[in-house]
Amino acid sequence: MDATDDSKLSDALKNLYRAAELIHVDPEVLELISHPKESLIVSVPVRLDSGQVRVFQGYRVRWSDVRGPTKGGLRFHPSVCLDEVSALAYWMTFKCAVANLPFGGGKGGVSCDPRSLSPTEMERLCRAFGRGIARIIGPQRDIPAPDVYTNARVMGWIMEEYNNANGGGCYPAVITGKAVAQGGSEGRGDATGRGAYYLMKEMERSTHSDVLGGRGHKITVAVQGFGNAGQYISKFLYDDGGYVVVAVSDSRDAVYCASGVDVDKCIEVKNRTGRLEAADIGSAVRTMTNAELLTLEVDVLIPSAIEGVITAQNVAQVKAKLVVEVANGPVTTDADRQLASRGVTVVPDILANAGGVIVSYFEWVQGMSGMWWPEAEVHQRLQKKIAEEYHGLVRMWEQLRGKHSGKGGAVSMRDAAYAQALSRIAEAIQATGGSA
Ligand code: GLU
Repeated sequence: MDATDDSKLSDALKNLYRAAELIHVDPEVLELISHPKESLIVSVPVRLDSGQVRVFQGYRVRWSDVRGPTKGGLRFHPSVCLDEVSALAYWMTFKCAVANLPFGGGKGGVSCDPRSLSPTEMERLCRAFGRGIARIIGPQRDIPAPDVYTNARVMGWIMEEYNNANGGGCYPAVITGKAVAQGGSEGRGDATGRGAYYLMKEMERSTHSDVLGGRGHKITVAVQGFGNAGQYISKFLYDDGGYVVVAVSDSRDAVYCASGVDVDKCIEVKNRTGRLEAADIGSAVRTMTNAELLTLEVDVLIPSAIEGVITAQNVAQVKAKLVVEVANGPVTTDADRQLASRGVTVVPDILANAGGVIVSYFEWVQGMSGMWWPEAEVHQRLQKKIAEEYHGLVRMWEQLRGKHSGKGGAVSMRDAAYAQALSRIAEAIQATGGSA
């Protein structure tokens, strides 16, 4: 698709062009990696409980498979459209490359409001969508996973539809993030939050972050988004003891307490009532808006919900010293530049939330080999992978800062992450002789 000026894809591609300038990539490589390999739009007809039929729109985009089968989640959200899914598929390509996984990038989803569907309607929608995309996915072709508002059960339904469409075989490696009982991996459920936590611990130990490293007091944190990723990163930091989680939020409200919120209580209340009710969480806890949370005076801000929440409009009010992008694309390019010029480090999504896809890779390896690893082994491999890729990225960052100091604005950690990923992608394209 052609990206228009206000599209998420065209904003996302700016990072690629910047990285290409920093590492001087062949224009042919840039041209090849700037377009999706294939995009599928499917109608997803669902008979609602009322007896009426409603047709939803479903998508699957495979951005690039030059480094391996395409990999990436399936999202159910009203904002899902070809532009959004394409941007997310492109991000996955760079995420898998920065994590040095043998995967390309893909993404899919259905434009719907999952909260308005009953459990039976949801199952029919997932199965119809699974049938719709069965022809594009495959264990060595394109491997979906959970994303916003999708979970292990959704993955199980889609795997069954793929199996049925392929002669009734069993193909556990066609999808990741499924239940352990269905061939999923131990440790996949909390992997995104855990990966971000391991990364922050690695930053604490290294000398590259003056915010996380060597401080005499507890680090204050605000987490925006209380889905799978947001809940787990909040919980890991809360249990760590070195952090004070002063605020968390879901899509409706934020809850705040200067001395820290009880994250276990927040999770319990959210699971029980579907909301973050300040009164149920604690007497000193007050409600605020998501917009207020983003501008709190904290050491670390962790946007963990959806893209485009820190923008040119609100970035001047962001007071955090470090931003860790657990969501995909929460900081727009303009806002990112402003944060970089103020010296605020943004740990880019393609590394900060790569824990999910790293453990998906482990799940795929286990599914392909038929051998299953204990949870402790998954955690240990994840921690090692995150540490390795973080240090590799820091080396690239130092190199680029040395080379480009004073030219074209500060080289951000995101620039370095894209440069790292692009150099690996370019190597793969060049290995094919440029015909990727
Ligand atoms: N949806 C997750 C992401 O955006 C996980 C993707 C995967 O495991 O394939 O990284």
